Order: sequence, then structure tokens, then C-alpha cells
Amino acid sequence: MPMPHCDVCGEEAVGVASSQMGPISFAYCEQCAMDGLEPYDMLVGMVAMSGKLEEFHSWFVEMVKRSCVKAGKSDDDFSRDVEAFAEKVAKDPLVSRQEDGFTVTEVIIGIVMVFVLLFFIVAFIALAKYIGWI
Ligand SMILES: [Zn+2]
Repeated sequence: MPMPHCDVCGEEAVGVASSQMGPISFAYCEQCAMDGLEPYDMLVGMVAMSGKLEEFHSWFVEMVKRSCVKAGKSDDDFSRDVEAFAEKVAKDPLVSRQEDGFTVTEVIIGIVMVFVLLFFIVAFIALAKYIGWI
């Protein structure tokens, strides 16, 4: 089985490991694993979805800065990419919350839950009739 490429730098990876960013795994080459770097695009997405980089713990900010250097990106590039990502997400009706409303995903889950509830009510009535309660 061919080894995947490092998700940080694209070199040949030595393995897949748990990321420092959370419950997710990436392929890392030895150097990126030793330097504790993470994939640039993932960092952009995570910061865009969570807030401002300055609000993160200092170890995370330092890791982002090291990962930007590896990706050949400046601090300004990172800020710009985070802003662009956040704008893109804000326009996506599947994940963005309209003012005081629900996302499309929440509405779909709500409709499914109503049908599940109806199913259980009908099933209970059928059972009650079968047993002779009603
Ligand atoms: Zn690498």
C-alpha cells in the first residue's frame, strides 16, 4: 500500500496521526510531525469557524504561525484567507444561521423528528388496540 502524502507539505508521509486541532487525523511526514505543524487550509477553516486567532491559546497561535511559514504564507495571507472562508460560510444556507431563524439542516432534522414522533404515536395506538386497552 503506497504511503499517503503529508497533508501539511505534500512530501511522502511516515504515517497518519491524530491532529492537535481536535478529533481528526492527518498524514504527516517526519519533519512536519516533529515540528508539530498542521495543514494550512484546515487551520484557516478552524479559526474562521471559531473566532479570531488572537482569542486562541498562545501554543495554538504559535503552531499556526509555524504552519504558515511551512505553507509559505504570511500572517496577512492567513488573516485574509480566514476572512474569505468566514464570508463563504456565512453565505452557505446549510450551515449559516439566518437572523433568529434556523439553518436548512436544522429544518430538515426537525421535519424528520416530527415524522419519527408521529410514527411512535401511531405505533402506540396500534399496540394499545391490539392489547385491548382501547
Ligand atoms: Zn510534511
